[in-house]
Amino acid sequence: MKMKKIIMAIFACSFVFESGNTQKNDSTYDYIEAFKTAFYTNPSTDARSASGKPGYRYWQNRADYIIDVELDTLSDIIIGKEIIRYTNNSPDELDFLWLHLDQNLFMEDSRGNAIVPLRGSRNGSKGQKLDGGFKISAVQVVPERGSKNRSLVNVKYEVYDTRMKVVLPKPLKANGGKLSLKIDFSFLSPDYGSDRMGILRTDNGKVYTIAQWYPRMCVYDDLRGWNILPYTGQGEFYLEYGDFNVNITAPADHIVVCSGELLNPLETYTLDQLDRWAQAEASDKTVMIRKAEEINDSSSRPLGREMITWRFRIDNARDVAWASSSAFIVDAARINLPSGKSSTAISAYPIESYGGNAWERSTEYTKFSVEHYSERWFEYPYPTAINVAGNVKGMEYPGVSFCYHGSKGNDLWGVTDHEFGHNWFPMIVGSNERLYGWMDEGFNSFINDIATKEFNSGEYYPGKPNQHRRAMMYGFYSDKVEPTITAPDNLIEDNMGLQYRKTAMFLWLLRNNVLGAKRFDDAFKEYIHRWAYKHPAPDDFFRTMEDVSGEDLSWFWRGWIFNNWSLDQAITSVQYVLGDPGKGAYITVKNMREIPMPLNLEITTLSGKKIRKRLPVEIWKNNVDWKFLVETSEAFEKVIVDPDFEYPDVNPRNNYWYKSE
Ligand SMILES: [Zn+2]
Repeated sequence: MKMKKIIMAIFACSFVFESGNTQKNDSTYDYIEAFKTAFYTNPSTDARSASGKPGYRYWQNRADYIIDVELDTLSDIIIGKEIIRYTNNSPDELDFLWLHLDQNLFMEDSRGNAIVPLRGSRNGSKGQKLDGGFKISAVQVVPERGSKNRSLVNVKYEVYDTRMKVVLPKPLKANGGKLSLKIDFSFLSPDYGSDRMGILRTDNGKVYTIAQWYPRMCVYDDLRGWNILPYTGQGEFYLEYGDFNVNITAPADHIVVCSGELLNPLETYTLDQLDRWAQAEASDKTVMIRKAEEINDSSSRPLGREMITWRFRIDNARDVAWASSSAFIVDAARINLPSGKSSTAISAYPIESYGGNAWERSTEYTKFSVEHYSERWFEYPYPTAINVAGNVKGMEYPGVSFCYHGSKGNDLWGVTDHEFGHNWFPMIVGSNERLYGWMDEGFNSFINDIATKEFNSGEYYPGKPNQHRRAMMYGFYSDKVEPTITAPDNLIEDNMGLQYRKTAMFLWLLRNNVLGAKRFDDAFKEYIHRWAYKHPAPDDFFRTMEDVSGEDLSWFWRGWIFNNWSLDQAITSVQYVLGDPGKGAYITVKNMREIPMPLNLEITTLSGKKIRKRLPVEIWKNNVDWKFLVETSEAFEKVIVDPDFEYPDVNPRNNYWYKSE
């Protein structure tokens, strides 16, 4: 999801610099606490190895879906039926199943509605009163092939806010038991669906961006059993992998886009447009499929039908989303993948979004992002990557992003790149977003920063950040800020931004100041490869990073993720040996706050020579102060701690020592 713009300004104002003078006992650093042993409180299991790999008996359940829906554009109601083929690979028999009914957030008496504060929220339906939520008309078990009884069996179900419990007539067997569940449902789409789906009204018709739109299986895993946290707005999703066949029936003047591959282009596009599709699939430059001047021109749609059914398929995905509109301009270009395969970048947007460095560049951005992340981290698996302009600020689904129709320039690049980056976290690496927002938003923001630096020779790259300033701007530290590990639903809404920026920042520190780029990249890439299409938990990430890099990082995770600790390194004194600069100098540095980090230092001598020193984090392992000798033959002009402004140091004033006049 897109990060909110105004993060933490409130804390920035309340921050007061400490005095530059560092007294003897004013440090809050506790090295026993920072480096204490027993970081891992959960032992490894058959399912999860101590190395961070999936264990030798790793299992996860699977959900394949066949979904048929119809979009009623008069009432904004979506009517559908689905068959979920559910496979229980767990070692446990299941007496009942839990499903997410995330549309129920938009029921008047939902928990999510109840917690919208008086000042408003991006979550919920932005004050729209609607008869929202799923209407379930049937839940049935489909008889297995070869069984004597061929009729559907009605099963009992109970709905609790955004969850549905389906009680099975007989338990679903462990270790591979399968069943098919048929559910008939409908819902009225909200205009603003918690900033993740909705309806935009344009001059040429409504743009429907549709998500959280079908009852979805909850994940049953080895860590928590059924993951049944409700959808209340802030916490996103945790879903099983499977293959999806989705058939969407919409008015014939609509163009429909959806995660995955369109299976019936001959029935859904004109001959001219099919020709342009063929050009686009061979082109690195964006090719118009349906041009602005063709909107409202009936010959730009197949003739003679009132409704058209669009058939899509996506494999190995954890979700599916779609969009539909009569107002769409569509363009596309080829995406080149490292293996030699290709995919297609597609954009669908209304004419209002066209022109002035806006959506006419969406396909270029999408193509770059997908190619960049494929090259650097893991190859993109889906046949298309579709960017849709709607009223959602920015939201990701497998192969599809909904971005704001009014975005342009840097904003549109940023949101497009961010939402497609989510194909790696959490679409490929399927972590639990409802519990660990930092593992998708933060990891994604981190890879986004690298992509932005590389896109079009840095067209939108703002330059290397000054972390001293940034720490204040984003309010990385404050008593009001929850630790990174905190679940999104447990955070003050304005602090959500920290799961993005703070995580991106500390991963950058880990890469550049602790492990080095190669070692970090090898470990991070290995994490993605080990957990692609699986369900990693935080420990699997920590263990993999340590396993591959060969470094104990418990102090790092403890400081940046499990606590809202802060960092303040200081220089406290410079003394020449026996008072003679020719004999060298003793420098004393001090760790003032709770987080230990390696120390970087730059000395400028009187003649202007610069000496760089780098001390490992181990200097803080049993010390609050550290005194060391620098061999020199001349006196110093100045000494600076963190001379490249790379650390979010809460008090940079005590980073400087100057020769006294
Ligand atoms: Zn996001």
